[in-house]
Amino acid sequence: MTYRITLIPGDGIGPEVATAARRVLEATGIEFDWDVQQAGRGAMQQHGTPLPESVLESVRANRVALKGPITTPVGSGFRSVNVALRRALDLYASVRPARTMEGTLVCHQGLDLVVVRENTEGLYAGIEHDVIPDMAAESIRIITRPASERIVRFAFDYARANSRRKVTVVHKANILKATDGLFLKVAREVAREYPDIEFEDRIVDAMCMLLVQRPSDYDVLVMHNLYGDIVSDLCSGLVGGLGVAPGANLGDDLAVFEPVHGSAPEYAGQNKLNPTAAILSGALMLRYLGEREAADRVEAAVAKVVSDGRYVTFDLKPASEDRSAVGTREMADAIIATMQTRRALSDTA
Ligand code: NAD
Repeated sequence: MTYRITLIPGDGIGPEVATAARRVLEATGIEFDWDVQQAGRGAMQQHGTPLPESVLESVRANRVALKGPITTPVGSGFRSVNVALRRALDLYASVRPARTMEGTLVCHQGLDLVVVRENTEGLYAGIEHDVIPDMAAESIRIITRPASERIVRFAFDYARANSRRKVTVVHKANILKATDGLFLKVAREVAREYPDIEFEDRIVDAMCMLLVQRPSDYDVLVMHNLYGDIVSDLCSGLVGGLGVAPGANLGDDLAVFEPVHGSAPEYAGQNKLNPTAAILSGALMLRYLGEREAADRVEAAVAKVVSDGRYVTFDLKPASEDRSAVGTREMADAIIATMQTRRALSDTA
């Protein structure tokens, strides 16, 4: 069977890491028919919009997409394409696993955390305006019962389906009593329907400290958009950095897979940054498609290359060994070669 998948390379380092992921996925032997769509800076120049309707139509038609990161101008310019895409397609749940791999430079070994982030509302709805130009501005943060209930239920269903032990809801309901208060109230109600899964809540600032000190106390974490953005970067730092953190944006019947990291424009075109996050996002996509064995092979090959530590990008090397780092393309080559060697060995066994 051939899978038709929307491929959005993105901009900055996006095309480099997306190409690496595409090559690794193709090396599994599974057939893909890539529907390549441009979004971000290139699309802005070509179509006058960073998110052409054709991109959304492609994802709606193919139901699954693999996406590289896309730059959002800071302070002015167009709104985030990433946020707009998730909202337009109602990809309400962002799932960001953070798992340590042997060979990464980390303080805590054996971590296995999952951040579930609400993707459609909160401050990222971007409802903001000047009250007095250059003097005062206002952002409106909307939290609704349906969206809160949907994301918390998603987290519990995910925990149950993946044999996870605990869900921690993260909030700031001590200060934001109406908005986060509603989220926490709904979370407590939903939790009662899942007596087999442990439930607790944490205030977001304390959560950050606890994650740094005792991350293995946590399992599945669920929270609204802004906290999810910050806490998932923190968790990626715990397991080796943004270069190794994959992600999935899931709706009821559409899915877009993308690394947690951004477009790192200062590195664009240098063949320098780590393709692992994009490749592992591709492995999450394989699982979603039901191709578990291929996903296992990709993850095992990534783990082997990272633990060997020879053909890895500079972010996975101690500073003293920076010069022996390889580039994006060469690390992907090593992952492909590892997959092929293992396959040849298992064929001859
Ligand atoms: P970033 O994630 O692009 O980069 C921050 C730093 O993280 C980099 O300087 C680099 O040191 C490290 N890093 C990132 N990716 C890496 C990789 N693959 N391998 C090794 N190290 C890596 O964050 P930023 O600089 O804050 O954002 C740049 C742009 O990306 C902004 O326009 C932002 O809006 C956008 N962004 C997009 C997405 C997305 O497309 N989903 C996500 C986050 C940020």
